[in-house]
Amino acid sequence: MPNNFHFKENKLHCEQFDIDAFSQQTETPFYIYSKNELIENCQRVIDAGKDKDFLACYAFKANYNPYLLRIIRDMGFGADVVSGGELQFALKLGFDPHKIVFSGVGKTAAEIELAIGTGIHSLNVESAEELKLVSAIAEKLQKPTRIALRVNPDIEAETHEFISTGKHINKFGITQEEAFRLYQLAKDDKFLDPHGIHVHIGSQITKKEPFLKTVDFLLHFSHQLKQSGVPISYLDLGGGIGINYDDDFQSNQSDNEFVNETLPAYLNGFKDSGLKLVAELGRSVIGTTGLLITEVLYRKETPAKKFVVVDAAMNNLIRPSLYSAHHEIVPLAMNSSITEKVDVVGPICESTDFFAKDRLLPTTEQGDYLAIGASGAYGQALASNYNLRPSVKEFLVDKDKVECIYEGRTIDNIFDEFGMK
Ligand code: PLP
Repeated sequence: MPNNFHFKENKLHCEQFDIDAFSQQTETPFYIYSKNELIENCQRVIDAGKDKDFLACYAFKANYNPYLLRIIRDMGFGADVVSGGELQFALKLGFDPHKIVFSGVGKTAAEIELAIGTGIHSLNVESAEELKLVSAIAEKLQKPTRIALRVNPDIEAETHEFISTGKHINKFGITQEEAFRLYQLAKDDKFLDPHGIHVHIGSQITKKEPFLKTVDFLLHFSHQLKQSGVPISYLDLGGGIGINYDDDFQSNQSDNEFVNETLPAYLNGFKDSGLKLVAELGRSVIGTTGLLITEVLYRKETPAKKFVVVDAAMNNLIRPSLYSAHHEIVPLAMNSSITEKVDVVGPICESTDFFAKDRLLPTTEQGDYLAIGASGAYGQALASNYNLRPSVKEFLVDKDKVECIYEGRTIDNIFDEFGMK
């Protein structure tokens, strides 16, 4: 478990707040976040970039709760957005437009128009056709526009194939050869300012090597572009630094060891380049700040398996179902030292609705509570109302205080949305 979550008298605490006691009086499932964990994670990123021309952006897609976003904004972060909705959220929350980068393989004309009109730091363009449209819209608005091309460096991120984005088979980015050609077109276009190069090779990357290969790629390519007269002044390095999802709640090691080790090494790779650096981090900022809390509804045994059926499901946290992601699971009250091998499953009518398979866990009873660890990133953000299970409440802990930061949806909200009186 991350630093700000620990057991005190056998009860799991978030900072100084007893989550077990809180769960007894609160409807489950719910998400709970640590403010201090978030501040510490942001600070790590800022420290890695100090003494450099560095802009830390937060990838909104990982978790867009505005209470959390305000904390991140106040730590000096910019925003990495991938839709008009995220861009509007960032602007409404007072993120500095000059600290906003906009990526995405399928931006609409309306989204491009909004970005150009706002004057963001950079529009990260992902195809020749998009570049043409950006140029046309910039001309229509008579606003020369700063762009970066997202280049696909064909680097193996050594992560799950569904979250690997920088290989030649992925839909993202442009090959180096085509990017070189497009940069020449952009350089001669009155309404395009091709000031940067963008890469993002994947997510949950726990090794340094893929990032170090990206350094070599970017140094070489930026040099080649500058020699051809393209005025490259910044590099957007993407996100992707992994966190520790392992079962280690008794260890003192930070769950953000990768950001501690990898980000400084990644940034230092460019130390003599004279280029401004941007990073777009999601998981390594928000992942370790949150837990999903759920109640044990039933225990169930078949000849093949023991099941612990909980009241959270894949509509609340889809990562295990989507890419067999491992999340640590611990009881909120550590009452038993006896362990057993179980599947932890939710109530949804899909066999993929599980949080753990054949996992050795302390024995739990009906009515016990479990915490599903490191659920701050790509948890609530990917929640759905599947099986008509409305999305759940979120709480934020600050020392010994708790505040509700999202009320969730109710079935009445859904009745309203469909005009059902
Ligand atoms: N930037 C881009 C373009 C992405 O697609 C993503 C994630 O998919 C991120 C940044 C954030 O990645 P992570 O949460 O792994 O840091």
